Amino acid sequence: MNHRLHNIIPVRWRSICEQRFLPSLANRRVWRCSDMSKNRTDMEQFVDASKGSSEVVVADPELVEKKKAAIRLGGPAKLQVIADFDGTLTKYRIDGRRGQSSHGLLQQGNPKYDDKRQELFEYYHPLEINPTIPIDEKAKLMVEWWEKTHALLIEGGLTYDAIKTSVSNSTIAFREGVVELFEFLEERDVPVLIFSAGLADVIEEVLRQKLHRSFKNVKIVSNRMVFDQHGHLVSFKGKTIHVLNKNEHALDMAAPVHDLMGDSNGPIDDNASVRKRTNVLLLGDHIGDLGMSDGLNYETRISVGFLNDNIKSSLDSYREAFDVVYLNDAPMWGVVKLVSQLCSTGSD
Ligand SMILES: [Mg+2]
Repeated sequence: MNHRLHNIIPVRWRSICEQRFLPSLANRRVWRCSDMSKNRTDMEQFVDASKGSSEVVVADPELVEKKKAAIRLGGPAKLQVIADFDGTLTKYRIDGRRGQSSHGLLQQGNPKYDDKRQELFEYYHPLEINPTIPIDEKAKLMVEWWEKTHALLIEGGLTYDAIKTSVSNSTIAFREGVVELFEFLEERDVPVLIFSAGLADVIEEVLRQKLHRSFKNVKIVSNRMVFDQHGHLVSFKGKTIHVLNKNEHALDMAAPVHDLMGDSNGPIDDNASVRKRTNVLLLGDHIGDLGMSDGLNYETRISVGFLNDNIKSSLDSYREAFDVVYLNDAPMWGVVKLVSQLCSTGSD
């Protein structure tokens, strides 16, 4: 028994494991990164054992294998990757402390307005996570929160330079393996849609500064800013994308991709052809991220969840919701291996 996993599995789920899941452990249905073999043919091959403590949980390996076979059959031309940004592509913790989010890192250069946005966070965030508020009522509250925040960014005189400085001063960081994941997918013309309720311009600046290159296959669907000739924010494009409408419908709401990012050659897929890519690899760190593929009539979807926090209390629901669950702020190497299998033309 993997003692580390044993320690973090809630008692109720552990009893289920011991009834029906434990035999699978011997068959490596649960992989432990620190046990990674040097053998690069194994799924674990990409995981750096020196990083230690990450694990992956696959509740139904047979189902995942079936989905992998179906996606492999369709080939890269039918595949798209839909990814959340904060806590999914980026690390949840940096040096043992909570990493910054694309929203959280933004400093307008006007402390009064930074404080006002923080006040909004303190009022609305508890409503966001309150399970007793009906979803339609909550959606209205989220629109309210987002629109007030956007208004403060305009009123407070946010500049594009402030975004650059904020990103430069931030602790936000990508998981190891994200560059390799994007490169692999770019080489095969597989689009990556980053869906975020945050700010597209901030995310693009994070990509620019932290990855030091752009990818023609990466498209950001998020709230996009309009700046005047002096670099001052004057408005937002399109309809507001908040946490509860972050789904494939957001493609219709999203403004065109910013020219400054890696889309100078144009996105490789317009929205219509993205919809024809009916096999989906979805990456998220909240169960709500599964909604990112709503509105897309996908044939096969493999969902990968990063369970970053509250592992004991959330593992049950994550393993039910996602096909594959990575624990403890795992690197992206397992996903790199997964896409290499999905795009493989061989028999592996
Ligand atoms: Mg997230």
